[in-house]
Amino acid sequence: MKQQPPPPPLPQSQPPSLSGGGGSAGADSEVTAIAGTVSSRPPLYPKPKTPSFDKDRDYIGFATLPEQVHRKSVKRGFEFTMMVVGESGLGKSTLINSLFLGDLYKNRQLPNVEERIEKTTRVEKKTMDIEERGVRLRLTVVDTPGFGDAINCEDSWRVCTQYIDEQFRQYFTDESGLNRRNIQDNRVHCCLYFVPPWGHSLRQMDLDLIRRLHRKVNIVLVIGKADCLNKGEVRKLKERILQDLEDNHIQLYQFPECDSDEDDDFKQQDRELKASIPFAVVGSNTILEVAGKKVRGRQYPWGVVNVEDAEHSDFIKLRTFLISTHMQDLKDTTQDVHYENFRAQCISQISQHALRERGKLKRDSISSTNGFDAAISETDRLLLQKDEEIRRMQDMLTQMQEKLKQTHLMEMKKNDSVIDV
Ligand code: GDP
Repeated sequence: MKQQPPPPPLPQSQPPSLSGGGGSAGADSEVTAIAGTVSSRPPLYPKPKTPSFDKDRDYIGFATLPEQVHRKSVKRGFEFTMMVVGESGLGKSTLINSLFLGDLYKNRQLPNVEERIEKTTRVEKKTMDIEERGVRLRLTVVDTPGFGDAINCEDSWRVCTQYIDEQFRQYFTDESGLNRRNIQDNRVHCCLYFVPPWGHSLRQMDLDLIRRLHRKVNIVLVIGKADCLNKGEVRKLKERILQDLEDNHIQLYQFPECDSDEDDDFKQQDRELKASIPFAVVGSNTILEVAGKKVRGRQYPWGVVNVEDAEHSDFIKLRTFLISTHMQDLKDTTQDVHYENFRAQCISQISQHALRERGKLKRDSISSTNGFDAAISETDRLLLQKDEEIRRMQDMLTQMQEKLKQTHLMEMKKNDSVIDV
């Protein structure tokens, strides 16, 4: 299907500008818009016009379908879950607070060195409700304090993979239950993985974790505290990281191809986002005044690093990608690729289990029921039941494999034909 821009059009220009422009008015207004919980203000999203009953109109009316979908989803609100992984002190909490202009970490207690040596990785979940122009977003950030702090890091990646699998398993169970309409979706839609700026490339522990996660979740790599590096160093580090990923056959989140009929600005923005991976970011929760303008930045003896200036860091690109342009695609990829993979594995395990049970029943029936008609018929009934169960599972598996293949093909050629009425 051709991608539709979210109707009705936003009052501000689209797509959002990538240039921070040293804290321009545009960037500032974007900041306040995200920060403000505008419950007292009327929603800024213009309501779609109510379709008329005019029977003489010369159209059928299904062109309003996008508005109907839009109205329903705005009413329902949106959910997004992001996992943040990386060792302590890399600027994760600062970045999350800067991205969503919240204060998710105000009660945080930092462990001392002794505690950190023995510490195991934990999972901490924080949720905040944000509202922007009448659109509600429930953001859940899954933090992994203690990650990489211990000498043995095996526990670190196990905690992350287990958490992701548990959320899939819970969703799978809920989906097979009775109350499917009100499923709480806690699946992880994106994993922001922080790489330190002081290495030469990815470390063994980074590769170990990413290798274990890349088929379960959309991984987005971020070089933290990028103000420690100059432009050339950032470029070299990015090149080496990408080379390492290629050498190790690791696939990060794949940007979908831009539709050929998208406008040039959008295509340019898409190219810039892709070229920035891994994003080299700087975070700050301090607002400074530079040349009469308020900017989010870090004050150093020699000057100010403006977090939202594209010349200083990829922060604004990361925010554009994560929030304005690709949040829905991250959710769709989680559903269509990662969750479908998990589901296929579950169904295959269940059908193997059913096959084993069937074999056992068959053996039991041969060895113990010679001459007892009633028992034979009961065993036969169970066998038939198992056969039917296995057949259903295998059908489901075939369908899922077909669907996964189709999703893959669709990702590869996203050019479609549209009939204008
Ligand atoms: P976390 O443990 O990964 O969550 O790291 P924090 O966000 O708590 O940051 C640890 C320290 O690094 C704090 O003193 C921050 O002010 C500082 N910090 C955060 N982000 C940056 C950054 O982008 N650059 C620099 N130089 N320092 C940062």
